Amino acid sequence: MDKIFFTPGPSQLYPTVKKNIEEALEKNIGSISHRSMAFEEIFSTTISNLRNLMNIPASHHIFFLASGTEAMERILENCVEKQSLHVVNGSFSHRFFQMAKDLGKNPKKMDAELGEGYNASTMNLELTNCELICFTHNETSTGVMQPLDPIYTLKQQYPEKLIALDIVSSAPYPKLDFRFLDCVFFSVQKFFGLPAGLGILIISPQALQKSLTLESSLANDQQPTANNLPAGNIGSYHKFSTLLHYAQKNQTHETPPVLHMYLLQKVTEDMLQIGIETIRKQTDEKAKLVYDFLDNHHTWTPFVKDKEFRSPTVIDAQVGEKANEIKKYLEEKKMIVGGGYGKNKDVQIRIANFPAISIEYIQELLRILKNFT
Ligand SMILES: *Cc1c(COP(=O)(O)O)cnc(C)c1O
Repeated sequence: MDKIFFTPGPSQLYPTVKKNIEEALEKNIGSISHRSMAFEEIFSTTISNLRNLMNIPASHHIFFLASGTEAMERILENCVEKQSLHVVNGSFSHRFFQMAKDLGKNPKKMDAELGEGYNASTMNLELTNCELICFTHNETSTGVMQPLDPIYTLKQQYPEKLIALDIVSSAPYPKLDFRFLDCVFFSVQKFFGLPAGLGILIISPQALQKSLTLESSLANDQQPTANNLPAGNIGSYHKFSTLLHYAQKNQTHETPPVLHMYLLQKVTEDMLQIGIETIRKQTDEKAKLVYDFLDNHHTWTPFVKDKEFRSPTVIDAQVGEKANEIKKYLEEKKMIVGGGYGKNKDVQIRIANFPAISIEYIQELLRILKNFT
């Protein structure tokens, strides 16, 4: 038996990836020019598949980047002149905040307890001066899925502020309302079950406008800011205007990872065939098996106590001192799970629940875990 990767990314590859890589090699995908018709077709088909799968409106632009982390940097550079605000409840939301600091954006943050998210009554943000509010939809480090309604309400109350949403480890599971979202991003090595190397960024007309305004003000005014950081820098080959210029031709500025784009085209085709509603339903069913198992276990529990915040796509289990032993025990059975994150490294395990991980795999994992003593 091959190993099964229940790790939250990179993860088990989608079952058709092997066949699609072979097919890509036969079609010389690794050698075609990124200025060719063949490439433009991969570009445009992938974009249109993503629009269909995730219901992304024509008003929003879709760009190819190198990773989720790159998307964070591009968003901060292109959408923030002076200040961003970060809702932080784990390592990835903290990374976004830290990056804003590194870029000199004087970010503010609001912390939730690890293992918790925000609902309408706890979302109490100090918004003065902030241009962009950053949320992590699925905090992979703790297994928290942030409810979307409080975010949409915020956008309705403050339409002039931009909203960024990290959906790296949940896309395309969440049914998003893009009317209330300005910068949404993910990478392909999580729920899509592909090898890492590609990030996707979706931006609203309002986010594009902000970037264009910043770009023209930078061109007109090179004065340093009060704290003596560079007046601003919206980047070069991946600033929004350049990304858009090439995307409109179904191209990229740089030579992109065409193989990955091809694999994304293929996996989105597979997912469209199955239907996103079916994928959501299957994800919920598998998540219920794991959460029920943990809720009924005599010592282990889900790390996220409040059901409102429990992620169906990445499940964090509080297992106590034996986390490393459990991981080793599973590895002997060729099952690889994720460890806890940061200070919970030795007391938690994390289990990804992505489409490549079938219900049979989940059942087998739970059967084996049940016998752990
Ligand atoms: C994995 C992950 C990232 C980082 O994505 P990369 O593609 O590795 O840069 C960011 N946010 C979340 C929530 C993630 O799970």
